[in-house]
Amino acid sequence: MASIKSSWASHAHRVAPAFAVSQNGQMSARSEGFSNPSSDQSRLAEYRKVSAQSPQPDVIRYAAELLDSGALVAFPTETVYGLGARASNPKAISDVFLAKGRPLTDPLILHVARVEQVHELVSEFPEDAVELAARFWPGPLTLVLPRHPDVLDLITASQPTVAVRIPSHPVAQALLIETGFAVAAPSANRFGRISPSSAGHVVSELAGQYDLLLDGGPTTMGVESTVVDLSGAVPKLLRPGGVTLEELSAVLGQITYVDRVVAAETTNAPAPGLFLRHYSPRTPLLLVEGEESLTQHLIQALGDKGVTARSVEIPHDQIEAARNLYQLLRDADATDAKLLLVRPTQSAGIGRAVNDRLFRAAQGRSLKDCSEESVRRALAIALAESP
Ligand code: AMP
Ligand code: MG
Repeated sequence: MASIKSSWASHAHRVAPAFAVSQNGQMSARSEGFSNPSSDQSRLAEYRKVSAQSPQPDVIRYAAELLDSGALVAFPTETVYGLGARASNPKAISDVFLAKGRPLTDPLILHVARVEQVHELVSEFPEDAVELAARFWPGPLTLVLPRHPDVLDLITASQPTVAVRIPSHPVAQALLIETGFAVAAPSANRFGRISPSSAGHVVSELAGQYDLLLDGGPTTMGVESTVVDLSGAVPKLLRPGGVTLEELSAVLGQITYVDRVVAAETTNAPAPGLFLRHYSPRTPLLLVEGEESLTQHLIQALGDKGVTARSVEIPHDQIEAARNLYQLLRDADATDAKLLLVRPTQSAGIGRAVNDRLFRAAQGRSLKDCSEESVRRALAIALAESP
């Protein structure tokens, strides 16, 4: 361990943070978190392949030692790739916000290997949590619970709650068992951009911003975890994901969900992280909400005005849709199109998660017909926003 610590420390010339964090993780008043970090050239930026099914113990041990020493380690989970940092290390946690360009109002999810560890992070573990944990952990479910006072303010965005999850991916499991401590691991992408469902995505999003990237191949779910808030009187679905609303209802009986909820980026209430501009390609994306043929009509009408629009075809099968969503958005973003059009999928099961991400990727904007006004609006967006 000592050799790794010192090798990392010798590489790790620390950049001046854009905000101040005290030893107990309190943020200073000048914390904005939006500051664009100049790429931290001193990070190790190591890349290791790892078996998704039976991760090599030496690789896992190395990754755990790096996390222990305050380094940032990107690793696969069943949802998307996470950028991991030791939860009790304020410097490592602030580095995660810097690497992602993430606002400090957006709290991080803590990942652990076992339910007993969750008890050290929360001040209450209600009956609903016991039942959901028994049914869905390890797995793509995040529970928001009253926080333990020792959890850093940076992690919770100074809220009275903390979000926790036990991931099921063998690499994430092995890593969390090896560390024995909680690891904050937001998606390993720049804030607001498309989440990474493969190691290649992490490289293109965060090159040079991590110390180690564990490549365990493409993730299986493809979209982020379901977030359920159990801190209030009635359970609330904050973010749809791999565990569906139907599955949650079957366990809880009562659960509320309002889709297309939007939170301001500058506040952390009432539902942090539900930002409108999220999961976005650089090419502007619009939802098409009308009959099947509308997309082709719009592409034609826009083409007539000299603007290349392209349809992002979401697979009919909802599991496939979720798994391939971010790759499809990235592929479409890499074409010459000036505007991307996408039809939402069926709003049930994991389709809700797909539609939630599409809604935010489109910044809530949709076209419902092919009228002159709609075409004019689409043209204006394409011309103003296309890179
Ligand atoms: P990710 O960037 O995918 O790790 O997502 C983290 C998301 O979890 C945030 O953007 C929030 O939506 C949600 N979250 C984390 N902590 C809390 C919390 N204390 N209360 C409500 N939602 C939370
Ligand atoms: Mg994210």
